[in-house]
Amino acid sequence: MIDYHIHTRFSQDSDAEMEAQCEAAISLGLSEVAFTEHEDYNPGDPTSFYFQHADYMRELERCRAAFDGRLKILAGIEISEPHRYPREAGAVLASHPWDFVLGSLHWVDGQHNAFLRDFFTKFGDWRASFRMYFGELLDLARDGDFDVMSHIDYPARYGHTVYGDAYDIAEYEDLLRPALRMLASRGKGIEINTNPLWRNKAHPNPPGIVVRWFREEGGKILTVGSDSHRPATTGAHIQTALRLAREAGFTQVATFERRVPRLVDIPEV
Ligand SMILES: [Zn+2]
Ligand SMILES: [Zn+2]
Repeated sequence: MIDYHIHTRFSQDSDAEMEAQCEAAISLGLSEVAFTEHEDYNPGDPTSFYFQHADYMRELERCRAAFDGRLKILAGIEISEPHRYPREAGAVLASHPWDFVLGSLHWVDGQHNAFLRDFFTKFGDWRASFRMYFGELLDLARDGDFDVMSHIDYPARYGHTVYGDAYDIAEYEDLLRPALRMLASRGKGIEINTNPLWRNKAHPNPPGIVVRWFREEGGKILTVGSDSHRPATTGAHIQTALRLAREAGFTQVATFERRVPRLVDIPEV
């Protein structure tokens, strides 16, 4: 049992202590976690240039010692739009011993925050917003330095107040398959992000059909993560994600150390 997408107070939008997140993980029976803090460069984002890497590494080493033998703790980072900021991201990746790197698309076209409701109204048609988002995933997949692409249909977390139940990711297969194929060909992965599940939504990011498409396109690297920003949601619905992974044709998930993947069998759940 692993959770490869957790935030702590080293991310601008979390005030969780790393130690409390470790205790939550252990109490759920998790054996391995990755603390993937926000690394942003977009001038419009409140998280930009917030992450203090050296302080984080110190706290990570302290927790590794405190929970030695009980929890494996990975040095992670969630970089926003690494394809747009290769110089900045490259310097950070080279300067610390990262185990696991998530690549995210939060800002579309460098200027539209997909977190906000107006992302779905400003182009006249909410489907156009999704097409912009999914179209840029190919650029991220081709040019970004990361290990696993995060939350592939991230805007779906926030747009439902505009389009209700009308969103169907299958309408965007023409845009998603090329990005998934690119990821597979570069040896990179995707994640099943359970954040929507612990907010009582029907599907994780992305829904299982996309995980299946990834498999069909040759993808082998799959991780699972809660995207938790506080101990109460850490590890939430990881079992569900593993079950969905199996249903999508995966018998293994990936673990990482120093950015090298290793596949492990998914336990019967
Ligand atoms: Zn994210
Ligand atoms: Zn995150």
